Amino acid sequence: TAETTPAAGLDHLEIQGVKKVFGDNTAIARLDLSVHRGEFLSLLGPSGCGKTTLLRMIAGFETPTDGAILLSGKDIVSLPPHRRPVNTVFQSYLLFPHMNIADNIAYGLKQAKVPKPEIAQRVRDVLALVQMEDFAGRKPEQLSGGQQQRIALARALVNRPQVLLLDEPMSALDRKLREEMQLELKRLHTKLDTTFVFVTHDQDEALAMSDRIVVMYDGVIQQIGSGEDIYANPHNGFVAGFIGKQNFIPAEVAAAESGSVTLRTANAVLSAPTTAAKPATAAGEAYELQVGDRVRAAIRPERMTVGPARQGEQATNTARGRVMSYSFLGDVIQYMIVVGDNDEILARVPAAGREIFSADTEVELSWDATAVAVYSGDTGTTAG
Ligand code: ATP
Repeated sequence: TAETTPAAGLDHLEIQGVKKVFGDNTAIARLDLSVHRGEFLSLLGPSGCGKTTLLRMIAGFETPTDGAILLSGKDIVSLPPHRRPVNTVFQSYLLFPHMNIADNIAYGLKQAKVPKPEIAQRVRDVLALVQMEDFAGRKPEQLSGGQQQRIALARALVNRPQVLLLDEPMSALDRKLREEMQLELKRLHTKLDTTFVFVTHDQDEALAMSDRIVVMYDGVIQQIGSGEDIYANPHNGFVAGFIGKQNFIPAEVAAAESGSVTLRTANAVLSAPTTAAKPATAAGEAYELQVGDRVRAAIRPERMTVGPARQGEQATNTARGRVMSYSFLGDVIQYMIVVGDNDEILARVPAAGREIFSADTEVELSWDATAVAVYSGDTGTTAG
């Protein structure tokens, strides 16, 4: 087992300058990440962004091409997976089909030659923890998918890892069960001192569960922060488009002075209280806007107001459009509105007491200048 001599200033889990190259494919570019003791951290990103590779390096199933991974101050890179105080729950539960549930959970402890009475006690405790006390004698095939997932969790927790790694553990479950398991996992995390590192490509899941989210794209961390923080203040166009719904509108800079920018699109004039464009991805840099620059204006759907069409001159931060479709979602009405020939704008407005504009109705969209964010016109990605 690893020594635990926390070095001053170091976090529980420190990923330092870690890089992973497969042949000529860089899965992880030089990456630094500090994981706090006891936090619930999610690695979130689209397929191929490198999140699983990062998790597998922490677990010990992959060796970094370069860099160090420190747990409580000790480099664990040279330790095989079973010698690390870390355990993984996989998407496929990998339970032994011929063993009953208690034996499945006890397996690792038996291998480690833990005395029998202690094994029995720990298996009972962990089954109680995941609320599966009555299932000890069953075979895996006699359990539902959600129950098997709980057993996989119990098995990973029974040897009391310092860090629990979860690799898309809920993706095989249907939506309702997945939401139940999200609550269950949060409950477990609150009860234990264990640090959780959770891999997912599902932003709702990450937002619902995490203390902090690490947004990854193309082997690079794009942003780290709480869900609220990342949603409200995306650092680049990738994050702005990946987290939550977003309208990106191609625009050209008409003026940029004294803290404000005026943008022209095919169908509207926008102003925003900034003179800088944020980059397309973390690989780029923010830059001061110049007249003529092509950029993307971004406005969240819930910052849009939808009203009746008006005659006369068109004001800044408004646009005229036609309702293509709308959905009544209970608390909000979601409109798809086409502006000009083909700018499609999504708007979500509170439903209570509002007039509903049906399909083909001419409407006016409006928004506050503070709702407009400006990103580099280069998308830098296939996702934004
Ligand atoms: P997914 O959600 O699809 O699992 P991911 O974000 O977890 O994606 P990784 O599985 O970490 O992404 O893969 C990152 C990159 O590394 C991809 O380009 C992938 O093809 C590559 N890669 C991963 N494992 C290997 C391997 N064993 N050999 C070669 N290339 C690999």
